[in-house]
Amino acid sequence: MAKTLADLKGYHIVGKHSAVKTCLWLKKSLKDEGYCYKQKFYGIPSHRCLQMSPALICNLSCVHCWRPLDLMPPFKEWDEPEFIVEESIKAQRRLLSGFFGTAGVNRRKLEEALNPKHVAISLIGEPTLYPRIDELVDEYKKRNFTTFLVTNGTNPQALERVEPYQLYLSLTAYDEESHKALQGNKWDKIEESLRILPNLDFRTVIRLTLIKDVNMKPEKFAEIIDKASPDFVEAKAYMYLGYSRRRLKAENMPEHEDVRRFAEELAKLTGYEIKDESEVSRVVLLVR
Ligand code: SF4
Repeated sequence: MAKTLADLKGYHIVGKHSAVKTCLWLKKSLKDEGYCYKQKFYGIPSHRCLQMSPALICNLSCVHCWRPLDLMPPFKEWDEPEFIVEESIKAQRRLLSGFFGTAGVNRRKLEEALNPKHVAISLIGEPTLYPRIDELVDEYKKRNFTTFLVTNGTNPQALERVEPYQLYLSLTAYDEESHKALQGNKWDKIEESLRILPNLDFRTVIRLTLIKDVNMKPEKFAEIIDKASPDFVEAKAYMYLGYSRRRLKAENMPEHEDVRRFAEELAKLTGYEIKDESEVSRVVLLVR
């Protein structure tokens, strides 16, 4: 397991507190071996997606988190948004340069990949802890990126400032008690974010991380979804990976059919409809 930031495999550290990592699906897409469910659901081409985080820190400690979160050295001031955007693109290009000598890579896609068009601000940590997250999103937009921002919902003030193309609020708990057991001590903040969600004028997604025998209770999430009224709900299986293996068991990882059954039940309870699914990623998409 990684002990310091430098030990994190495949991460490229940007400035003092940000990181970029090329994801598995980008690599698969370059070899025409598949693509991420976000390409299937939302049309985001995997090979042009930049996966990054502007804050290698988090304010929760989720049982299902596969990431190491206590690795960032102390720093005195935050980097400028322009710097992070510029350097993250350069980092992506450096990470991609190794593919020019790799057999089986689609050359046209690799050339395109050098100019990413989509940013997933979600890699590791809680991105809204970067105090200038709104400016960071805007800076990517200035460069014609589509922007997906993923938050754990603990920073409602940030939701009122940001304007991404699509905002994800990741949910694992459905009330204060389950939140305390699974994540930490910030349920009041998450509730506040859920209240803000219906008023946002960009696309919103609630992503449910489903842990078998722990939180797969559609009736508990249905009321939250009714009230928050997101455009999309993603019901997604917890994956038995990384640091989460210290806290959960392989049996806690639902099969795709478990996720499907959960989504069908949720659809009945909320009136949302199942629109798509990806068996390999164990995720089902519901739309309002
Ligand atoms: S909010 Fe995300 S990054 Fe933070 S502990 Fe939970 S899963 Fe990990």
